[in-house]
Amino acid sequence: MKLTKQGYTLGGVSLLDVAREFDSPVYVYDADQIVANYHELKNAFKGLDVHLKYACKALTNINVLKLLRKEGAGLDTVSIEEAMIGLRAGYEPSEILFTPNSIGFSEIKEAVELGLVINIDELSTLERFGNEFGNKVPCCIRLNPHIMAGGNSHISVGHIDSKFGISIYQVPHIKRIVDSYGIRVNGLHMHTGSDILDAEVFLRGAKLLYEAARSFDNLEFMDFGSGFKVKYREGDVTTDVNDIGAQIVESFKTFCAEYGKDLQLWFEPGKYLVSNAGYLLADVNVVKQTTSTVFAGVNSGQNHLLRPMMYDAYHNILNISNPAGTERIYSVVGYICESDTFGYDRKLNEVRVGDILAICNAGAYGFSMSSNYNSRLRPAEVMIYKGKSHLIRKRENLDYLLENQVEIDLS
Ligand SMILES: *Cc1c(COP(=O)(O)O)cnc(C)c1O
Repeated sequence: MKLTKQGYTLGGVSLLDVAREFDSPVYVYDADQIVANYHELKNAFKGLDVHLKYACKALTNINVLKLLRKEGAGLDTVSIEEAMIGLRAGYEPSEILFTPNSIGFSEIKEAVELGLVINIDELSTLERFGNEFGNKVPCCIRLNPHIMAGGNSHISVGHIDSKFGISIYQVPHIKRIVDSYGIRVNGLHMHTGSDILDAEVFLRGAKLLYEAARSFDNLEFMDFGSGFKVKYREGDVTTDVNDIGAQIVESFKTFCAEYGKDLQLWFEPGKYLVSNAGYLLADVNVVKQTTSTVFAGVNSGQNHLLRPMMYDAYHNILNISNPAGTERIYSVVGYICESDTFGYDRKLNEVRVGDILAICNAGAYGFSMSSNYNSRLRPAEVMIYKGKSHLIRKRENLDYLLENQVEIDLS
């Protein structure tokens, strides 16, 4: 997003025009930014056969999936529904990794029938998989290296109490199951969570995976998951992907030489690809002066963007319709009957009723975590592609809310 003489623009299109044309609230994504993020990350691992599997739970609009596919991405999916959307977007089943947790075995069977790359994260499921498919269908194993990523236990999934993955200490047990059923393990996987700051955490996890790899002879890839931290506010320390890249390339090459085979290296970025490419635009409904603060109340809320409330995440907010206004302090709140605060004590250009606020970093885990709470409709989604705005999801309507409700005879 840029501030020009014509106001704030995204991919060459005025954001105010987007709000005018498609109404608000509306999610807007910049296709160029997504593509640039993809190549920046991919280039950081130059020298390796690196494959980025977009973790599409971050933003699942089919156009985003298609866009990334054109650039050469694969997909990381956590449900059969996500995989189906991926297939619809044109991905080959072999380009789709299926990394669910706590699902029924019937869903895994479905994924096998579709030809997805299966990632197993639990011992009894592995046993059942071996029993069912023997050596006929390969699978990847999700290991838990017990590494704490970031500072927030909500987004850290590789620590000791985490429900994800099979403990790295249980590799001998995995090996017994694999041997007794002849399971072909084609990959080892770890995903320790979001917000990894330095190369050191990746490297620690990587080393544990290299160690575990000695127990498996048929590996084709290693998957180091994600956790690339993105910038949410000025001054945020973020993952230096080039630093991580340089160190991982080094260590991965050494590992491959020892293993005796050049394996593929996979990552599963979600946030990194789409977070900074998206904005949620909302209208200011009320400006309310109280004894302690001034609230700017918008026509959106936790039903559209949950991260500030759920993770205490900081999302930068801009008043895009009054960029030259005097700066004042506001708390930006939603219209849901909950304390749904987007941001406390934010310095914004003077906010007037009818102004349009842009909430930044809304590309990842924005629309995809939205709901109809308070029977509110979900916003439209718009993608800026080649200098033009395109509607990529219609705003919901009341029929949608009632569509699956079944009215019974209460007489
Ligand atoms: C959510 C998830 C990701 C993506 O994490 P980001 O922090 O958005 O990059 C990657 N892999 C798995 C298995 C996930 O569940």
